[in-house]
Parts: sequence; C-alpha cells; structure tokens
Amino acid sequence: MYDVIIIGGGPAGLTAGLYTSRARLKTLLIEKGFTGGQVMTTEWIENYPGFEDGISGAELSQKMEKQAVKFGLEIVQGSVIGLSSMDKVNKVTLENDETHEAKAIILATGSNPRPLKIEGEDEFRGRGVSYCATCDGAFFRGATLVVIGGGDSAVEEGLFLTKFAEKVYIVHRRDELRAVKVVQERAFENPKIEFVWDSVPDKIAGDATGVTAVHIKNVKTGEQSSIDATGIFIYVGYDPNTEFLQGLVSVNDSKYILGNDDMSTSAPGVFVAGDVRKKTLKQIATAVGDGATAAMSAEKYIEENK
Ligand code: NAP
Repeated sequence: MYDVIIIGGGPAGLTAGLYTSRARLKTLLIEKGFTGGQVMTTEWIENYPGFEDGISGAELSQKMEKQAVKFGLEIVQGSVIGLSSMDKVNKVTLENDETHEAKAIILATGSNPRPLKIEGEDEFRGRGVSYCATCDGAFFRGATLVVIGGGDSAVEEGLFLTKFAEKVYIVHRRDELRAVKVVQERAFENPKIEFVWDSVPDKIAGDATGVTAVHIKNVKTGEQSSIDATGIFIYVGYDPNTEFLQGLVSVNDSKYILGNDDMSTSAPGVFVAGDVRKKTLKQIATAVGDGATAAMSAEKYIEENK
C-alpha cells in the first residue's frame, strides 16, 4: 500500500512526487508515456524560471524526473483505466489489470492534443498529419507545411518548423493571434512564415505518399482555397485526460477537474494538479505550483486520516 499514487508524470506530477518523497511518503507515479508529458514534446522552453538561456523540453523533463527519483519517488509505466475509492483506500487499475492502492491520489494526467475532426485527418495521421513538431519536424526538410491554430503552441511550433521547412503557413480562424506577444513578434519577422487569417481547414488531401494539400475555407467570405503541402501540424488546443475517472470527481462541461485552492477535489483523498485542473493559466510554472500544493494537501490528509 502506497501513501500516495500520482497519475501522470508531467511537471505537475513530478513536482508532487518530489514533495511527497521528501516528506517521506511512499509514492508511486504512474505515467502512460514518457515522463515530462507535453514538456517532453516541446522543443525549447524560455519562460520557466532558472534557465536564463532557455532549456529543451527533454532536458527539463529529465532533470525534474531525476530530482524526484533521488528522493525516493517510484515511477512505473502504465495506462490507468480505473480509479475507485472505498474506506479511505484508493485503488488504481492499469490496462494490464495490475492494481495499486494508496491512501491518497494526485491526478496530474494533463491533456491530449485536440483533433480537428476533418476529412483526411485520421487517414493521413502519421503520414503528414502531426500534433508534435518536436517529434516529426525533422522529417519535413525543405517542405511546405501548414500549421493550424493561433495560440502559443501553434505559433511557437510554427517557428520551430522553420528550422526544417522552406515555408510554413499558419492558418488561424481569426485575424488576431492568441499567442503571447513576444512569440507573435518573432513569427511576424520570420520570412518563412505566412499567416492565413480568418480561415479554417476543411479537408486534408493526399495520396499514397501522404499529405499533398490542405483545403482551406475563409470563414468571413466563404472563399475556398488550397495549399500544396506535405505536412499539417494541428495545434487547436487540448482535451483533458479524465475519461478513466468515470464520475469519481466533479468536472466541468469541458471535462476539466474542479479543484479547490488546496487542490482537493470532490472525492476525499483525491487531489488534482496541472493542466487537467480547471484553471486560467496553463504553464509549466503553474503546473509545478499545483503539484507542490497537491502534495502538501495529500500529506495533511494522510496525517489527519490515520
Ligand atoms: P489554445 O491557447 O487553446 O489555442 C488554440 C488555438 O486554436 C486558438 O488560437 C484557437 O482559436 C484555435 N482553434 C481552436 N479550435 C479550433 C478549430 N476547431 N479550428 C481552428 N482553430 C481552432 O491552445 P495551445 O496553443 O495549445 O495552448 C494551450 C495552453 O498551453 C495555453 O494556456 C497556452 O498559453 C499554454 N502554452 C504555453 C506555452 C508557453 O508559455 N511557452 C507554449 C504552449 C502552450 P481562437 O484563438 O480563435 O480561440
């Protein structure tokens, strides 16, 4: 029986693990993919304090993991499919039928890239359709690429893709970006980037070689056009990973977990941290704050429920 099980190994989960391990609580962190979460798929991070020249997402993830493991955090790879609570014992079930029990749970499962749900997206997934520039960008040397979205992810990753691509079109459904100003300025100055405003993709076309074109519709004029491109990178937001909870904790209409200031949820002994929590600012800096708070609250809960 663990004191704490943390589900999800991004910055929120790893920080929670660092804090609970330093509090000498026996802690297991379960991660379905790579530790680091979305940070692991981010090429370069320059708004996390302490790294004045920036740091790669992979290196920051490794540093966070090493630091927590040094204090005793156990990490296993596995996909959680169920969570139940009875008599102050929380039981976590993994896809391979393995189960683990803990006095307290910290949900730090983050979110997954949201699909566009347009024709050709599923058909050409992995053959030109991508949600991760860091993972796939290098396959597109000299290519013409299309990025969808106007947030931090779309513009930052669009900039990153100019390292490989000859031309990057950023297609945004409005005429104003949501991304932070400093990133916008860089994109406007980059000669390889061209913005396509007020437009959304409505079809991804291709052949046996993969994606060949992205069909675009102007939402103001209704005008249809097409961009010849061999890759499309989709950054239209993220959906929270909360399906496995099956009503155990309260969520909002978009399925984000409702947490209190101390990161407690509607279920006693179950805490939340990071992007999976309903909150306004989703950053590494806010995720680690959530993780620390959730860990301290879990410690307090265990102490009070001995
Ligand atoms: P986001 O901020 O939610 O932006 C999603 C973008 O996609 C928006 O521009 C949105 O348009 C557009 N969009 C949404 N649905 C669409 C659809 N069906 N068709 C076409 N376009 C659509 O998502 P994100 O950029 O992935 O960022 C997620 C969170 O992580 C944010 O809080 C962001 O600040 C944070 N983040 C931070 C950094 C950083 O600090 N370095 C890096 C990456 C992400 P509208 O603008 O019209 O809504």
